[in-house]
Amino acid sequence: MARIVQKFGGSSVANAEKIKNVAKRVAATADEGNQVVVVVSAMGDTTDDLIDLAKQISLDPSQREMDMLMATGEQQSIALLSIALQELGKKAISLTGPQAGIHTDCVASKAKITEVNCARLEKELNAGNIVVVAGFQGLSPDGEIRTLGRGGSDTSGVALAVALKADLCEIFTDVEGVFTADPRIVPKAHKIDSISYDEMLEMASAGAGVLQPRSVELAKQYGIHVHVRSTFTQNKGTIVQEGNKMENLEKEMVVSGVALDRNVIKVSVFDVPDEIGVASKLFRALADARINVDMIIQGGDRNRLNSITFTTGKDEKIKLEKLLNDVVPKIGAKEYTVSDGVSKVSIVGAGMITNPGVAAKMFETLSDNGFNIELISTSEIKVSCIVKEDRAAEAVCLLHTAFDLDKE
Ligand code: ADP
Ligand code: ASP
Ligand code: MG
Repeated sequence: MARIVQKFGGSSVANAEKIKNVAKRVAATADEGNQVVVVVSAMGDTTDDLIDLAKQISLDPSQREMDMLMATGEQQSIALLSIALQELGKKAISLTGPQAGIHTDCVASKAKITEVNCARLEKELNAGNIVVVAGFQGLSPDGEIRTLGRGGSDTSGVALAVALKADLCEIFTDVEGVFTADPRIVPKAHKIDSISYDEMLEMASAGAGVLQPRSVELAKQYGIHVHVRSTFTQNKGTIVQEGNKMENLEKEMVVSGVALDRNVIKVSVFDVPDEIGVASKLFRALADARINVDMIIQGGDRNRLNSITFTTGKDEKIKLEKLLNDVVPKIGAKEYTVSDGVSKVSIVGAGMITNPGVAAKMFETLSDNGFNIELISTSEIKVSCIVKEDRAAEAVCLLHTAFDLDKE
């Protein structure tokens, strides 16, 4: 008897018919003699709809109440899936994140899982239940319900697989697996059979929303193989696992994927005095406000004045502007601008380490097609460029072709 964690995303449980379909799939896994823990997201666009509802009442709602509100989405889908399983004659029970023993830190709306106490889960499994757990939520030490950031049910799924020492962790979604680019943007994208944790982590943090980056980090840390696959077919999907050894690298693709992140705003702070400690004050203030910064560029200007440009997520805009109104004068800088008409395009591939000229080819592809690159950042296996949002999808298609990913 194997122990299997299956996570189903929002589009897989978007309506009653789809929930019944998921129930059949889960029941079939249980019928094969397995213990099954199911993690589900909120139905369809429920989380977005709940956020919109709150925004109709307040532009800057309290994070605590937002967590309280957003957590209700998953609570609906766990109950409905349990009912569907019971309707099929299965023993099933739904548990919220707190009931399932998922503990988090105290950071509202971006909480991290600190521990999973499996006592209740084990008890329910031993009683012969299929256990349906709400993704995206947990309980913090101060007794609050916390959510894990958008896409957080993936992390709930992997965390439960780790804690329960599951034999298999399957992430079911609305595409056949991880593709060389978002198949909704690049029709020629193809499914990748196997991808390393590192490449998947770079793809996910570059905007490939198919997995939350933290779920990949967690899987890597504990060596859990994750099978990303479609809810709607029986086909094999993508296995996320440890990468091949160095000797195989040359046989691999130089670039294995292209990603697009539209959730970007670019912030520039101008006329920053060229003094020790200025950047540290600015980024300490951002860190204390829990604003995640992605790319950072400091440009030296004339007269011992610099400009500092960085990117962050669109949902940080209101908090960020409040903070900069206070911090920018304090560091002796003159002004700042926030632009939200930009996106990040990235190429990812472990083969980059041993193949020079990859970044140059990316820049050539973009410039030959009239793109102005506003910011650049690199890691060992990723190059990212900020370009105007209106043509960003086109840039992804061009790069996909330029790096020979259209084949197959
Ligand atoms: P779920 O509701 O199952 O969590 P998500 O919408 O969060 O689903 O993630 C699946 C979506 O991720 C796909 O529909 C696809 O549009 C998008 N996506 C972005 N990049 C990729 C990629 N490289 N491979 C597969 N899907 C991707
Ligand atoms: N429902 C949450 C969201 O939409 C969590 C998830 O789907 O993973 O972000
Ligand atoms: Mg998701």
